[in-house]
Amino acid sequence: MITGKNYIGNRLSGEGVSSHRTVDPKLNIENPTAFMEATEDEINEAVDLAAIAFQTFKKTSGEQRADFLNAIADEILALEDELIQMFCLESGLPEGRAVGERGRTVFQLRSFAELVSNEEWRNNVIDKAIPDRQPLPKPDIRKTSIPLGPVVVFAASNFPLAFSTAGGDTASALASGCPVIVKSHAMHSGTGELVASAIIKAAERTGMPNGVFSNITGRGRTVGTALVKHPKVKAVGFTGSISGGRALYNLAAQREEPIPVFAEMGSINPVVITPQAIAARSEEIASTYAGSITLGTGQFCTNPGLILTVESEGVEDFVEDLAAKTVAIDPQCMLHPSIKSGFVQNENIVTGQKGVSVVGRLEESIDPNYAPSQINATSGADFLANPKMHTEVFGPFSLVVKSKDEEELIAVINSLEGQLTGTILAEESELENLEGIIDALQNRVGRIIFNGVPTGVEVTGAMTHGGPYPACSDSRFTAVGLGAIKRWVRPFSYQNWPKELLPDALKD
Ligand code: NAP
Repeated sequence: MITGKNYIGNRLSGEGVSSHRTVDPKLNIENPTAFMEATEDEINEAVDLAAIAFQTFKKTSGEQRADFLNAIADEILALEDELIQMFCLESGLPEGRAVGERGRTVFQLRSFAELVSNEEWRNNVIDKAIPDRQPLPKPDIRKTSIPLGPVVVFAASNFPLAFSTAGGDTASALASGCPVIVKSHAMHSGTGELVASAIIKAAERTGMPNGVFSNITGRGRTVGTALVKHPKVKAVGFTGSISGGRALYNLAAQREEPIPVFAEMGSINPVVITPQAIAARSEEIASTYAGSITLGTGQFCTNPGLILTVESEGVEDFVEDLAAKTVAIDPQCMLHPSIKSGFVQNENIVTGQKGVSVVGRLEESIDPNYAPSQINATSGADFLANPKMHTEVFGPFSLVVKSKDEEELIAVINSLEGQLTGTILAEESELENLEGIIDALQNRVGRIIFNGVPTGVEVTGAMTHGGPYPACSDSRFTAVGLGAIKRWVRPFSYQNWPKELLPDALKD
């Protein structure tokens, strides 16, 4: 049952005076529960508890943390339909998506459990002593990875389960031995509280220290700011807007002790479609991309927001067909009213630029939080002259840029900011001639896709869900997949340390 309170460690607490309600975006009305926003005292207590819990949690074995993560997965599943209904009520997303996202969340938790059930993930290195090395003896040095300390995770609005309370950031941080304090997203606080209750039950059941997890609600930035500034917080995970991620990054850098902020932010995910691909399979590409652009109402960080091609026979027909197919897909509800207003605002920025034409836009009247999908077009020269066209329009929107030749298309790619993904749709026989495009994309993105769509991010060891700024605040790491654990640890070396005092995995 939802209480509207915060979890300060294992204790439910609602000492504040301000509260907020989530919204049913389909009906455009507020949901009944008032969520109490955390006070300064509650925030401090949660962080203090996390810092104390860290002293024991960091010493737990991999098996103990694996049991904890698996128990969280079990408790989430035990919430059954209550969780699914709450997810749908607060996000406007369909039941199938809720079930799928729960499956992904559980899979992530179990994957990290498996990862830490042995010590290989720590990338230990043992360099044995060479006492008779000349001119000086070489000491015995053994390196491992140790957890950073309490981590603050900002729940993402567009994945109420998989990138939120028990999502990839939380699962990877707990797996590494870091306690987690979640700043719940104000627009799905009910889903957040239910998942938090599952984590607390799992923590109690597996004997984890009180404070290993807290869930804190708030809006208006006060709570998030206080958490990031707290001296006992040692790292931050964030998924959301560029302005939000950058603000938190700056805040963390200005602390007396700066801390890392792993922010996954904006991306327009360029897709290069060659004239040969259009000539060979125009209709198939148009259908596939209409589906990808509108998937989840376009509210994915990997949404294909920018389609790059070269003027040639068939291109105009392809763009018209893509627009017709995109607009023909039934409009869907957006996550909450401010996502919808952000969509309208950014859509107006891009379509208001000189040289941008609307090729297709859903014109029929729709309910307030539903999104009119649309396809726009511009020339390579106009795009190159105007960085405002790079604006991320978070929703079912894509801008087609038609360059006059390949050289201009490469210049367009080079003009882009860092991106999560880049895609090439081409005939296999042309690939060897596309080196310039491939090199340009590799320079701007974290993942390159051949003849596919960027939407859909596998949780696997080989995944890179990151990229140069502003796709991410640190392009050396991934936010999805098993590699995400590396964000929460630091290297640590033992020199000439007595063998009996070394961690087991570092003994001979
Ligand atoms: P958001 O505005 O970035 O907020 C996400 C979280 O960060 C919230 O908990 C918010 O707290 C906190 N936050 C943001 N700015 C902050 C600041 N200056 N100081 C302290 N805390 C701050 O994201 P959103 O609400 O999910 O959606 C807004 C827009 O972000 C969307 O329309 C979309 O354009 C973009 N977005 C992008 C992605 C992506 O994957 N690329 C994903 C989601 C959203 P408060 O609630 O207290 O403000």
